[in-house]
Amino acid sequence: MRIAVLSDLHSNLVALDAVLADLGSVDAVWVLGDIVGYGPEPDGVVERLVEIGAVAVAGNHDAAAVGAADVGWFNPDARAAIEWTQRRMAPRTRDWLAALPMTLAEPPAALVHGSLREPLWEYITSGAEARPNLRLLAGQRLTLGLHGHTHVPVLWRLTGEELELLRVEDGTRIALDERVVLANPGSVGQPRDGDPRASYLLYDTDRAELVWHRVGYDVGATQSAMRRAGLPAWLVERLAVGH
Ligand code: ZN
Repeated sequence: MRIAVLSDLHSNLVALDAVLADLGSVDAVWVLGDIVGYGPEPDGVVERLVEIGAVAVAGNHDAAAVGAADVGWFNPDARAAIEWTQRRMAPRTRDWLAALPMTLAEPPAALVHGSLREPLWEYITSGAEARPNLRLLAGQRLTLGLHGHTHVPVLWRLTGEELELLRVEDGTRIALDERVVLANPGSVGQPRDGDPRASYLLYDTDRAELVWHRVGYDVGATQSAMRRAGLPAWLVERLAVGH
């Protein structure tokens, strides 16, 4: 099976459509949360995911948008965008988001937004978070932890006691074996690794391989929609620099 793994779409429909056009035919689309928040088209993004039959888990922004998580943890811009989303999204969008699970097991893979031990909120940014989460995964007899939340595409791998961090870029291929890994596809809707192009991952179960991809999209179109919506200026500007 060829499976597209997408994360942190953040209501950016122009970016999502560019990714869907780029990835071609796949057998499944897995979404690692933060479907809404920051961007201008929460209804459009959820409609598209429903249309393509995507399987998804909730992110912290999705939980906050439906009132299941406290917006007090968000910075002022993120909070303003969540409050805008709450006012604007259709009831069916809200219902779909509210029904998302926090974790999904698709052996040998696990799907979460932040991390296995703290699905909504933990950022895996260093070995201090990666190592215990890799052990937790191994304890569940799973080998592939798929997570987002940092908006930065990377791979963590445990070989015995040795922990490796692999930076990934467009076209990076990683062969999967018996070792336990955490893979982050990067962000579709708001990349933060200095590359404004949308980021996603293809997981080929027959080849046991992960391949990262980047795809340019019309950033200006999303920015114009955000300005029209009155979303915070910094959220508009950061899309152009990928930060
Ligand atoms: Zn996010």
